[in-house]
Amino acid sequence: MLLGGILDLSTVDFPGKLCSVVFFAGCPFRCPYCQNHRLLQGGMRLEVDYIVSEIKRNFLIDGVCFTGGEPLMQNLDELKDLISKLKDLGFAVKIDTNGYYPEKLAKIVDLIDYVALDFKTTPKNYPKLTGKDDSAERVLETLKILSSSGVKFEVRTTVVPTVVDEITVTEIAEILSDFGVKLYVLQQFRNEDVLDENFRHIEPYPKDYLIELGKLAKSYVPKVLVRCEGEEEV
Ligand code: SF4
Repeated sequence: MLLGGILDLSTVDFPGKLCSVVFFAGCPFRCPYCQNHRLLQGGMRLEVDYIVSEIKRNFLIDGVCFTGGEPLMQNLDELKDLISKLKDLGFAVKIDTNGYYPEKLAKIVDLIDYVALDFKTTPKNYPKLTGKDDSAERVLETLKILSSSGVKFEVRTTVVPTVVDEITVTEIAEILSDFGVKLYVLQQFRNEDVLDENFRHIEPYPKDYLIELGKLAKSYVPKVLVRCEGEEEV
């Protein structure tokens, strides 16, 4: 598997769990505000058993979060092997995904405990933002799979000025409502060291604006959280 690294301990990457975070390398998207752009290519090739041995040294955790990059870009058999070995050790497993690999997600969704799906913009704007013409249809397919599975999941939007505004959030929230999504998260944009230099000069919206966006979304989705210096329910 191609890895960027492992963070031993996080309190914020898996709701209700102390977790390790596995950063996989590789991603099909090129979001201009990507903060993990050093993981978009390259990475260290490591065996599943090595990754498991690194994680099980940590006695504090009860979960493991796969992030990236895009975890579902990895080989499916290796992903399944890694998940099942971690589950055998008693860890809960969460996957952060951009939604571009619905076929792969469908094959592992019953094995995992939590999914965080990015919903970055309106379907019409997805190709320009991500660089992939078929990104919106694949993300919508992923949403369909999650909604019809039993897995716990959240859908989240990074609120990037020039990309996301009231109209964007309202359209996304309407779509989430159509799919019966129960939890929507609006998360603050951070401009440090992002992929596109132009986005390094964009100031994040004030928290109050995120709360206002959250109130709009709340008309469509039962639970809305704003993540900005901590987390609060709207
Ligand atoms: S999907 Fe995530 S990892 Fe991939 S380019 Fe976009 S922000 Fe970066």
